[in-house]
Amino acid sequence: MTEHTLTVAGVAVDTRHWIGGERVASAETFTDVSPIDGSVLGEISRGTEAEAAAAVAAAKAAFPAWAATPVAERARLLHAIADGVEKRIEDLAIVETTDNGALLRSHRRGVMPRVAHNFRFFADWLLTLEHEDFETRGHTNHVSWDPAGPSVLITPWNAPLMLSTWKVAPALAAGNTVVLKPAEWTPLTASLLADIAAEAGLPAGVLNVVQGYGSEIGDALTSHPDVRRISFTGSVPTAKRITRSAADNLTPLSLELGGKSPLLVFADADLDLAVDLAVEQYDNAGQVCLAATRILVEESVAEEFTRRFAEKAAAIVQGDPRDEATDIGPNIHERQLEKIDGFVRRALDAGARAVVGGHRGEGQYYAPTLLTDVAQDSEIVQEEVFGPVLTLQTFTTEDEAVHLANDTRFGLAATLATGDRDRAARVTERLVAGTVWVNCFFVRDLQAPFGGSRHSGVGREGGTWSFDFYCDLKNTVTAPKGWKDHG
Ligand code: NAD
Repeated sequence: MTEHTLTVAGVAVDTRHWIGGERVASAETFTDVSPIDGSVLGEISRGTEAEAAAAVAAAKAAFPAWAATPVAERARLLHAIADGVEKRIEDLAIVETTDNGALLRSHRRGVMPRVAHNFRFFADWLLTLEHEDFETRGHTNHVSWDPAGPSVLITPWNAPLMLSTWKVAPALAAGNTVVLKPAEWTPLTASLLADIAAEAGLPAGVLNVVQGYGSEIGDALTSHPDVRRISFTGSVPTAKRITRSAADNLTPLSLELGGKSPLLVFADADLDLAVDLAVEQYDNAGQVCLAATRILVEESVAEEFTRRFAEKAAAIVQGDPRDEATDIGPNIHERQLEKIDGFVRRALDAGARAVVGGHRGEGQYYAPTLLTDVAQDSEIVQEEVFGPVLTLQTFTTEDEAVHLANDTRFGLAATLATGDRDRAARVTERLVAGTVWVNCFFVRDLQAPFGGSRHSGVGREGGTWSFDFYCDLKNTVTAPKGWKDHG
C-alpha cells in the first residue's frame, strides 16, 4: 500500500485520477466511506478545474489516432477489456459492494458479468453497423458513423460500474475518446476500470478518469469547447444544470434521469406474479431509476394484493450486503436516508398510512415501506424518493389506470400485470414510458433502445441508437458521372 492506494478486502485501488495514461494526484482529497458500516475506505483525489481540463486535453490529443484505428482493432481492444473485467469479477464485486452497499451476490453473478458484456456487445455491434446504400436519381447514398470526438461521461452511485461501462463501451467503440467522472460517493471501480483498460493495451488518453465532486468540476467538463458529446445519468436538477452548461458549445447531450414509474395490476393478472413484481421494486434498497414505485391495483383485488404483499415483504432479509442471505443492503449515505425519511414523514403527516414499514431501521438502513391513502397530486406520488418506499393506489377502470400511470412529469418505465393480451396491447400503446414490461421486470437487452420520456431523459442509447448518439452520422452522395475510368 502506498500513499495513493487504498485496499478493500485485499484489493488495491489507486485513489488518483487517470489522465493521459498516467496517475495524477490532486492537492486535496475527499473521504470515501462504506455505507455498510460507515468505515472510512480512504482519501480520493478531489479533482479541480485543472485536472478536468487536463483530462479533456488528453482525450483531445488521443482522439485522431483512436478515431483512425480500424474498427476491428478497436473491437479487439474492447474484447480485451472484457477479458480483464472477467478475470477480476471477484475484485470488482467486493469493491463495488463495499463502496455502494448493493448485494455482493448480484455484483458477482449479474452485474460484473454484465459489465464485461457491455464491452463485448458494443465491440460486436460496431462490426455490424451498416445502412443499406440507396439510390437517388442514379446517385448512391452511403451512410456512415464517424467518431464525434472527446466525450464526457458522468455517472451516479446506484450502479457505478454498470452505468459507467454502458456509456464507456459504446463511446470507445464509436471511436471517441472518453473522460469518465464517476459519482463521488462511489469512486472506486472506475479506478479499477482504468487499470484494466491499461492492461488490455488501450492507448494512453483514450480513457481518462477524473474523480471529484460534480459541483466543483462538472461545469469545467460540460462547458469545455473541445468536448463533442456528454452522456449523463443522474438526477433531473443536475441534468438541467448540465444542459445550460453545454448550451454555449451546443454540445449534444444524452440524459438518463429519474423516474416515478407505475406498476399496474389488473384484476385479471396472476396475483402471485404481480406481488412478486411489486416486492422486487425494493431491490438495491429502492435505489433503482427504473423501479416501479407507484403500485396501481384494480379495486376488486386490492385487499387481497395488499395482504399477500405485506406477507411477502415481511420475509425480506435486510442486512450486510456481503451475506448470501441478504435481500436488501443499506442505503448509500446518511444524507440519502434523511431525504427518504423526510418524504415518508411528510406523506404520513398528510394522511398516508404505512401498511409496511414507514420508518428508519438500524444504522444506514430504511425499512421497506408501503404507503396507502396517498393523493395523486401529493409529493410522495409525484416525486422520486430513491429509497425502498412504494405507494399503493387503486383504480376501477382501464382509463383511470392509464390516467394515473401517466400523471407525473416522468416517463422512464412502466410495468403491467395482466392475463389479457388485448388489454396489454391497448394499455401499452397509451403509456408514456421509454420501456414497458408486461408480466416481467428488468429484462434488458443491449440492442434495445433505452431512455426516458419527459423529465426522465433526453435521447435513447442501446444498440445502433448508442452509435447514433456517439457518432456524427454522415451521408455521402456519389454521382454516376465524372469518373475518369468511365471515359
Ligand atoms: P446526481 O445528479 O446528484 O449525480 C450524478 C452525477 O452527476 C455524479 O457523478 C455527480 O458528481 C455529477 N454532478 C453533480 N453536479 C454536477 C454538475 N453541476 N455538473 C456535472 N456533473 C455533476 O444524481 P445521483 O444522486 O448520483 O443519482 C441518482 C439519480 O440518478 C436518480 O434520480 C436516479 O433516478 C438517476 N438514475 C437514472 C438512471 C437512468 O438510466 N435513467 C439510472 C440510474 C440512476
